[in-house]
Amino acid sequence: MSLKKEEKFKSGYAAIVGKPNVGKSTLLNRLVMKKIAAISNKPQTTRNKITGVVHFPGGQIILLDTPGIHQASSQLNRLMVKASLSTYHDVDLVLFVIDAKQGFAENDIFVMDTLKNVKSPKLLIINKLDLVAKPDLLGLIAEASAKSIFDEIIPVSALRSDGLEDLGQTILGYLPEGPQYFPEDMITDCSEEFLVEEIVREKIMQRTRMEIPYAVAVVVEGMSEGHGDVWVIDAQIIVEKQSQKKILIGAKGAMLKKLGKPAREEIERRFGCKVYLNLFVKVKNNWREDSRSLRELGYLHDSNKDG
Ligand code: GDP
Ligand code: MG
Repeated sequence: MSLKKEEKFKSGYAAIVGKPNVGKSTLLNRLVMKKIAAISNKPQTTRNKITGVVHFPGGQIILLDTPGIHQASSQLNRLMVKASLSTYHDVDLVLFVIDAKQGFAENDIFVMDTLKNVKSPKLLIINKLDLVAKPDLLGLIAEASAKSIFDEIIPVSALRSDGLEDLGQTILGYLPEGPQYFPEDMITDCSEEFLVEEIVREKIMQRTRMEIPYAVAVVVEGMSEGHGDVWVIDAQIIVEKQSQKKILIGAKGAMLKKLGKPAREEIERRFGCKVYLNLFVKVKNNWREDSRSLRELGYLHDSNKDG
């Protein structure tokens, strides 16, 4: 065996965990530098694991965005927690994100307890540093290091991309030697359908209130090339009740238009082509509590039956 002068390529998986709304999806999107995960100011936007790939000359970070972990009530919420917890054990590194302004809240402590038995290195990311004064931040860092759980504590502002370059290098430092899993032009292993669904769902979450954001699932029914360079996308918006359908359609379809326009524009930006987006609203009674619907919508797999 001969020793090579150049550094070996490093690669591995890092899970982004933390309670809802601390900025996990924003962090993932900013690190990857393109928009992948749905972001909204309502908690629990992210229901599925999303992989984003960050490329460096000497390495590759594969990021998993986990659904927010919290004490769950409905069947869907319990599945989300299960999916989150199972990611910890297959990763090279755990990135635990908290909100600088909130410090360690009750929910954070719940998540942190689940981390105690995890062998992989753990970095604490204190996000939203733009929202706090320096002395408060220093206090929080001291409190965090006293917990002796984290290998490193890193304050960032995901929204302002502050501290993210250093964070990327730090993460890389924890990864093992490994292959280049994804080609350089690939930033996610999610399908185009999934990305469209996430974009539409994000627009709904940003523009609706009360129970609607949580009662909605989006399913792309078809994507095909239409006339010229236009892609025709048919997507179904699934809700739990007739009353929710009425709100989402709005008077003479006004709400659907209000959602559809920004969704279409974002899809066009992402895919670099013209898009014709057809949105339909459909009622599936109480789909969030129904195993068959959860399975159909991809939230429940046969190996993951939840009683
Ligand atoms: P998640 O539920 O943990 O995935 O959180 P999101 O990424 O969806 O972000 C929740 C909210 O926090 C959104 O309104 C973001 O714009 C906001 N946010 C994320 N990062 C920052 C940050 O660094 N500073 C501030 N001020 N807001 C942020
Ligand atoms: Mg999220």
